[in-house]
Amino acid sequence: MDSNSNAATKTALVTGGASGLGYAIAEKFVQQNIRTIIIGRNEQKLQAAKEKFGSLCSYVVFDLTNLAGIPTLVANLEQEHGKIDILVNNAGINMKKPFTEVTDEEFQRIILTNVTAVFALSREVVKTMLPHQSGAIVNISSMAAQYGIPKVIAYTASKTAIEGMTRSMAVDLSPQGIRVNCVAPGFIATDMSAKALDNDPERKNKVLSRTPMGKLGTPADVAEAVYYYATEGARYVTGTVLPVDGGNSIGF
Ligand code: NDP
Repeated sequence: MDSNSNAATKTALVTGGASGLGYAIAEKFVQQNIRTIIIGRNEQKLQAAKEKFGSLCSYVVFDLTNLAGIPTLVANLEQEHGKIDILVNNAGINMKKPFTEVTDEEFQRIILTNVTAVFALSREVVKTMLPHQSGAIVNISSMAAQYGIPKVIAYTASKTAIEGMTRSMAVDLSPQGIRVNCVAPGFIATDMSAKALDNDPERKNKVLSRTPMGKLGTPADVAEAVYYYATEGARYVTGTVLPVDGGNSIGF
């Protein structure tokens, strides 16, 4: 895929855009002629994604837990690419472990990546959006914020925080023309999760029987929702959470 970057009218920043859901989000943006910057730690993966997406895509190798580096990261991006119109806070980590075995360090590492880094990056990007009085931020939550899932205490805390932060940011930033929304994916078949479920048929059956639509979602399903929030179609929508979960959250 290669597009003409001169025709692009908007610029998006997608964290974790080289794999999983972030990859599908970046792919959707590029297909829609949005200049897309992807961030991650693994340069090989970023380079491979960039090659696939073509000239509308660029990447930055950056560990988002380096909070002190975020202001410089954003200043450099603004200098190089101009206005950032869209920020997708997609990068996130998870860990499955019994509640009593989770260490303080493990808990804090997940909160740092999934919450504090999202706050710090959003704050700096918003500062660059303010002079333009426009912008869209899409945070990626999870159905873990809606109901109890075993052995993911820190992840659940982090995704619940993201949904609260989304509402708070939406209220604070609405007068400045910046919208903030949240997509909450259900069971999505990324390479890794699909393989894990295929190796555990019992769990797969449980997941599918709990999903009214009876199938796993795809990263592209999530990307469609993110694209909606990020663009003009959602111009009067802010502070909301959209489950993309085949009906899981309606309590089947
Ligand atoms: P992946 O593990 O496939 O991708 C996560 C991405 O985040 C990677 O590209 C990784 O880049 C990046 N990342 C992680 N930590 C950092 C960091 N410190 N600095 C920079 N980049 C980082 O995850 P998914 O695609 O599955 O998940 C994406 C989001 O969707 C997450 O927020 C997750 O919680 C959420 N989600 C996913 C679901 C699913 O079924 N897959 C369901 C519900 C929510 P690198 O490897 O280069 O560091």
